[in-house]
Amino acid sequence: MRIIDPNKFIVIDLYAGSYNIDNIGHELFNLERNPIDGNYYGYCPPRDGIVIKKLGAKKNDKYVDNVLVVYVSKKENSSNREIIAFCLNARVYKTGQSGKILNRYFTDKDGQKKVSTYSIKSDNLFNLKGRYNKFEIKIYDYSKMMFRKQRFYVGKYPDLEKNIIEYIENYLENKDLLDNDDNLEQEEIQNSDAASSKEIQDAINKSLSIVNSSQGKSIAKNSRISKAALKEANYTCIIDIAHKTFKTKRQIPYMEGHHLIPCTVDNSEFFYNNFGKNIDCMENIICICPNCHREVHYGEWESKSRKIKMLYKKQNDKLEKVGILLTENELLNLYKR
Ligand SMILES: [Zn+2]
Ligand SMILES: [Zn+2]
Repeated sequence: MRIIDPNKFIVIDLYAGSYNIDNIGHELFNLERNPIDGNYYGYCPPRDGIVIKKLGAKKNDKYVDNVLVVYVSKKENSSNREIIAFCLNARVYKTGQSGKILNRYFTDKDGQKKVSTYSIKSDNLFNLKGRYNKFEIKIYDYSKMMFRKQRFYVGKYPDLEKNIIEYIENYLENKDLLDNDDNLEQEEIQNSDAASSKEIQDAINKSLSIVNSSQGKSIAKNSRISKAALKEANYTCIIDIAHKTFKTKRQIPYMEGHHLIPCTVDNSEFFYNNFGKNIDCMENIICICPNCHREVHYGEWESKSRKIKMLYKKQNDKLEKVGILLTENELLNLYKR
């Protein structure tokens, strides 16, 4: 089912202004969930307000609903733009709305306290900042002035728009498969024998095995490698060895395998193409109790990110040794979706 209306579409550039340089400015809140009501509010400069007529609004409408809002930002060392987030079914206002009751205060460069207005309201936002394979807009293919006004509307670059919609639909289709170390996979690990040392050694150089199913693409993982990681940790939780679970049918403590760099197609391809390494390897698999494991996937950010930082400290030496390089921040980004 198509959920995106290709006729209601706006691309907003978050590079203009001081936002990306000093990380201050009205756009500061664009990607953040508002703590007061849980919605996402996006700013677009009111001095050239959004022309909602171009999004299908009628003459006297004050806003238009069901708009796909795509945020882009400048790519490092290039004037091209990358998609960093999008909102489905957003409400877009004709004029800037006061953000006062939403606590959208910030201090600008001159130390002035300001309230950020907003033109976009959405109950959802997909943050793609942590994705390796971001959609890139090569501006010279279109117009080097395309973001002079910080945005463009549907109908301006039809081919590009078609590709962006395809990219987003594809992302949404595969979203549930992004990190699928679910029950089935854990069950497989429990029932596997640990990999041999040769199998462990070879894992890191093995080519990727991508599975195409009706639900999208995913990476086939070797449960024996995960089992070996559990065995090596002596079935103790990497967060705290005191965490107790229960005994499995094989009379060993139940623990789960988690790929620290999640084994998504996107991540796997990135590390394979850039470092020649397969991230379905011992160095990337941690032994973790089910409670901590669920938190790493579904916990609230503050506590979850603390755990991820801890895992990075514990595991990064091993990853580095085998040539899988990433910073703590890059790892955190991979958990932000
Ligand atoms: Zn996991
Ligand atoms: Zn634990």
